[in-house]
Amino acid sequence: MYGKFKEHIQKEIADIKDAGLYKNERIIVTPQKADIKVSTGNNVLNFCANNYLGLSNHPELVKAAKEALDTHGYGMSSVRFICGTQDLHKKLEAKIADFFGTDDTILYAACFDANGGLFEPLLTAEDAIISDALNHASIIDGVRLCKAQRYRYKNADIEDLEEQLKRAQAQRFRIIVTDGVFSMDGNVAPMDKINELSKKYDALVMIDECHSAGVVGETGRGVTELFNIRGEIDIITGTLGKAFGGAIGGFTTGRKDIIEILRQRSRPYLFSNSIPPMVANAGIRMFDMMSETTELQDKLHWNTDYFYNKMKDVGFDIKTTKSAIVAIMLYDAKLSQDFAAKLLDEGIYVIGFYYPVVPKGQARIRVQLSAGHEKEHLDKAITAFTKVGKELGII
Ligand SMILES: *Cc1c(COP(=O)(O)O)cnc(C)c1O
Repeated sequence: MYGKFKEHIQKEIADIKDAGLYKNERIIVTPQKADIKVSTGNNVLNFCANNYLGLSNHPELVKAAKEALDTHGYGMSSVRFICGTQDLHKKLEAKIADFFGTDDTILYAACFDANGGLFEPLLTAEDAIISDALNHASIIDGVRLCKAQRYRYKNADIEDLEEQLKRAQAQRFRIIVTDGVFSMDGNVAPMDKINELSKKYDALVMIDECHSAGVVGETGRGVTELFNIRGEIDIITGTLGKAFGGAIGGFTTGRKDIIEILRQRSRPYLFSNSIPPMVANAGIRMFDMMSETTELQDKLHWNTDYFYNKMKDVGFDIKTTKSAIVAIMLYDAKLSQDFAAKLLDEGIYVIGFYYPVVPKGQARIRVQLSAGHEKEHLDKAITAFTKVGKELGII
């Protein structure tokens, strides 16, 4: 049997390669941080990690993780409701709720699971999900697992959202679902207006804060801080795998009863392992750090403004951003790949994105800033971008 199937798979792989969509992985041989070494022996400055606060290799988190190995062991070997809950997990859940100003939190192995297990337990075919067209794959999968009626609105488009909300009055309950920050443009969902519409059209609101939590808002509390609607959003999902240390783990935080029913019915929670104690303990330490100082947010915001403004001054075409994602528009797919390859030669590691990850004719280089970057890292990147931009006739 495998012979025929193998041929089939090999053809699929060849097709992916022919389409130029084959994904190669670069191998990093150092911890994740601003200056990394890759397996080819090159040292590069990393501008494509989700390590927004530079915490992936933070000594305090490494220390907290080590401590937990000694006090709580290595793994849980169980789902929570059977015998997998430690004090650390409960404490972390409380810290997350505190950070977002919500009632309670439920942890998952990843935010992919949080989103995958969110909708099906809460909504039925009688209800409606109104989802932004650019929402993350895990939201799309979560929605697919649920029988609710689906409505889609154009990215961050309030008029279209209102249109869909009118149509969705046919259903019993409605929920508006959006990423806080969209990963390809770095734009922020217009949460103030979404919140208003949710009241007008009697809809719940869910925000995925994976790219916004820790980053957006003066103290990094996410889009609810940015739009001054803290405590008003029903459901927030997020990850411990990006700004918050970058290890692993996801969560849903929000209204008490919603979290309670998820503990009873959410399948990725009920049938999958808990995060390891060292990750929980490092998470606790991390949220403590977040409430002690906004130093990392301040640095990240400074870095982003500095990079964005300098790159604009040099003449690059850049999408307006309110996050730590800066999209440098090149429009042409091949150009985006050539540009990224030349930058790598200059010691700058960035990724060029093109269709189908972004719309056709919208190819770009996405730069992700971090509090782990020093000014000299930014200057080196700006110099390299300028050099390559001139070589390729962009600026
Ligand atoms: C990264 C990401 C996820 C997945 O998070 P993991 O914890 O890595 O599974 C979900 N939603 C959005 C918007 C993301 O950017």
